[in-house]
Amino acid sequence: MAVFAADAMIRTRFAPSPTGFLHIGGARTALFCWAYAKKLGGTFILRVEDTDLERSTQQSVQAILDGMQWLGLECDEGPFFQMQRLQRYKEVAQQLLDAGHAYHCYCSKEELDAMREAQRASGQKPRYDGRWRDSMATPPAGVVPVVRFKTPRTGDVTWDDQVKGLITISNEELDDLVILRGDGVPTYNFGVVVDDLDMAITHVIRGDDHVNNTPRQINMYKALGAVLPKFAHLPMILGSDGERLSKRHGAVSVMQYRDEGFLPEALVNYLARLGWSHGDEEKFSSEQLIEWFDLAHISKSPARFDAEKLAWLNQQYIKEADLRRLAGLTGPFLLADGCSLADGPPLVNVVALLKDRATTLRELADAAVMFYRVLEPSAALRAQHYSAEIRPALADLHTRLQAVVWNRAVINEAIKAVISAHGLKMPKLAMPLRVMVTGETHTPSIDATLELLGRDHVLARMEAQLMNFPAPG
Ligand code: GLU
Repeated sequence: MAVFAADAMIRTRFAPSPTGFLHIGGARTALFCWAYAKKLGGTFILRVEDTDLERSTQQSVQAILDGMQWLGLECDEGPFFQMQRLQRYKEVAQQLLDAGHAYHCYCSKEELDAMREAQRASGQKPRYDGRWRDSMATPPAGVVPVVRFKTPRTGDVTWDDQVKGLITISNEELDDLVILRGDGVPTYNFGVVVDDLDMAITHVIRGDDHVNNTPRQINMYKALGAVLPKFAHLPMILGSDGERLSKRHGAVSVMQYRDEGFLPEALVNYLARLGWSHGDEEKFSSEQLIEWFDLAHISKSPARFDAEKLAWLNQQYIKEADLRRLAGLTGPFLLADGCSLADGPPLVNVVALLKDRATTLRELADAAVMFYRVLEPSAALRAQHYSAEIRPALADLHTRLQAVVWNRAVINEAIKAVISAHGLKMPKLAMPLRVMVTGETHTPSIDATLELLGRDHVLARMEAQLMNFPAPG
């Protein structure tokens, strides 16, 4: 039981900076933090790191919230905003100052630039040289100082990364970083430490672009006498060409996937497989993910984004989605295409007929358009499929279809009767018929298509197209 009691206290957080949309990498981090907390009955926290005043926007905050909501990654606490916690950072900075773990630095930007320039010129790594660390000098008048952390000069920092294993960094590689700017806004590394402590985070799960920040943060935990959380750094996500995933590889915003007709459960399933695995399982629900998720099976090596696999998953989820839901999601695409849904058959029926061939809702909608709008066949299709010889058979079919009971089986009989009466083979008649009624050659079975489109539309479209046939002889 003791294990469960400890597990119940698991607290994870997703801490995005609101400087853009929720991208694939961020969503994967959020998903892993969420799944880990859910699995162990813990708490998932959302913290918005909005201290970059120039780049943070309200639209971005909204885009992140929307993206998480769409993916079903609801937080248990938050969102918390760092800019609403400035007083707290000031307090903790003061605590570090009082304990001798931090100091005021009065360097101007020009002075810092000159310092770096001189270091570069002499072949050294540019870094703050600690000139105010133990300085007894009188502070220059009128300068608002920053607060710097006193990084230990010797020794090293080691942590057992839950993904990457033991990592050791020498303190000599670190300099005295600024923790509080002159305007009272904390820097990233300090804000994160104060917040992760205040929010009692037990597992810091984040992208491995932050590995270099971790030793700096650990030094601050130690200076504050705090217990370290566990760190798990997720492998990078690469595009198909092996480069870090970026806009060049197509959609990177989660909402763009929604707009292109992906189902959230497909994207969640796919994101889970980016750097984590459970045997050979490719398709699984969020419930299964929660059941199976662990940090031990996160891969050390970079994950590769495979758009085809995502499309395949989406197709599987579309196939098994509830028809009403599918119709509800496909409708807006059709409306945006200028279709009037009242002018055609119920969308649930159309979706039922077409869904097995669609990779995205966008494709499903594209295939459904012909039920709501006349699609004129191209000149090339007409030239290929309309002939003077076949016209009488189609005119005959048009006549017969006026009288039959309107269902798939009877429509099929009528088509067969015309074929035998005119001595034709099925494709000879079915292809031009498809083109006349749907404007294209790829459709589900023709009898099902005609049945669903309805007698009036079928007859009207056939009539209109019979005029486009070449005259006999
Ligand atoms: N705001 C940081 C980012 O978006 C969060 C890093 C962290 O999780 O500590 O990269």
